[in-house]
Amino acid sequence: MQNFHLVPYPEQLVVTSGYATADAKISEKENSAFKKESYHLKITENEIFIEGDKAGIFYAHITLKQLRLQFGDTLPCMEIQDAPRFAHRGFMLDSSRHFLPKEDVLRIIDVLALFKINRLHWHLIDDQGFRVEISAFPKLTEIGSVRGRSHFGLVDEYKNNCGYFTQTDIKEIVAYAKERMIEIIPEIEIPGHESAMLAAYPEIGCQNAPVEVVTTGGIFDNLICAGKEESFAFVTKILDELIELFPYEMIHIGGDEACKRKWRACPDCQKKIKELGLKDENALQQWFVIKVQRYLKEKGKTAIVWNDSLRGDKLPEDCVVQMWMGDKDLIAEFAERGGKIIQSSTESFYLDYPYAMWDVQKILNFKLCPDFLAGTDAIIGVECPLWSERVLDLDREFYQMIPRLPAMAECGWTAEHARNNDSFIDRYTSIDAYLQTQGICGAPKEYWNISPKLAEQDMDNYNKTIYTPEYSAEMERQEAMMAIEREIYGDER
Ligand SMILES: [Zn+2]
Repeated sequence: MQNFHLVPYPEQLVVTSGYATADAKISEKENSAFKKESYHLKITENEIFIEGDKAGIFYAHITLKQLRLQFGDTLPCMEIQDAPRFAHRGFMLDSSRHFLPKEDVLRIIDVLALFKINRLHWHLIDDQGFRVEISAFPKLTEIGSVRGRSHFGLVDEYKNNCGYFTQTDIKEIVAYAKERMIEIIPEIEIPGHESAMLAAYPEIGCQNAPVEVVTTGGIFDNLICAGKEESFAFVTKILDELIELFPYEMIHIGGDEACKRKWRACPDCQKKIKELGLKDENALQQWFVIKVQRYLKEKGKTAIVWNDSLRGDKLPEDCVVQMWMGDKDLIAEFAERGGKIIQSSTESFYLDYPYAMWDVQKILNFKLCPDFLAGTDAIIGVECPLWSERVLDLDREFYQMIPRLPAMAECGWTAEHARNNDSFIDRYTSIDAYLQTQGICGAPKEYWNISPKLAEQDMDNYNKTIYTPEYSAEMERQEAMMAIEREIYGDER
């Protein structure tokens, strides 16, 4: 049988006889009784009939577009019934480490839409740059979006990396994504990864210590001071503006990699721990994160957190946890209570890692529901983060994304038993040719399923870009800092 070049592959495709001519009439029927994002596409000789909910109709057109890339105007007659396996199929864009302008973000959205990806998780705020205009606190971008030349290893960054999105830009991007059925989920990091925020407003950090926008990667101890009353008010004012800009259910509030060194030395944080009768600084983080989560809940929003936020007191089940590494017992316990989880394992879905580590086959073979969650329906979907320490431009962004992101899209949409590497490569090839005509070039084909020899070379190149003397010294310093954290709090990593 002929392989239809569709990615992700539909739930059910039945070939009927004949061909639809170029002038076959397209008729559409929006039917809200259809399951969310599902559609029915029937191609007959004289008519192309589409029925589905609003998103489903959009996806039917994507399917038609992909079929036309393979067949031109004369399509074989067929009938497709299609619906995604998971509700959340996401990509995470890191605008903090390297800033790509609005035009680039729009092109990334085009690529997401082509693979029926429905969530763009937008990492706008981190140690290395605050990239969204907040009217209440103009210094966040005046100071927080400007940094010196970075030291992310051997990447050719010869100049400072500056830039941010105005609220007008954000509105345009959100509207563009909405037309393509993509919800944008902004992320504000709490309580760690705040160097850029504290560079602008040191008064919400512990002991008003001066902080600079960071120029290297890794983990820092610049946390919002959880002991000060002003901190919560500061965060909620930012959230209020984000809620206006991003009119969707979910907001990501971070919660990962918060080194507590400054909290341990801060009179305000220590006072708060005593006042609340908390066990330690992990519990203080939990208290702060839950306070922010409740604030969002009151506004009708669901908070997403990285799995690190499961440490300390129990996280409410109405949060969503993005699972990336470690904390298996805590994740299992959260799922048992009915909590929902986004699968973003570093071991397949972190697209900043080289093809030598995760190639297409690894991604396609990845079991989205790990054994420790077997028997639960906790997993609501899958997401690929692409951290951008070593992504300086859009070409590199696409190199890291494509075709691994399309492979993830297949994991999120298509049933596990229907996924197959050879079939995927065949189906993806004509789509890749089309993307190249649009100037969107992913990794060369020999990287898609990488040979051991090329993998060795790829890994070497990757290591070379990381382990420069300057960067290595910084990583060693951070590792020593985190070893102390592990000793105190007994984390598993
Ligand atoms: Zn403090």
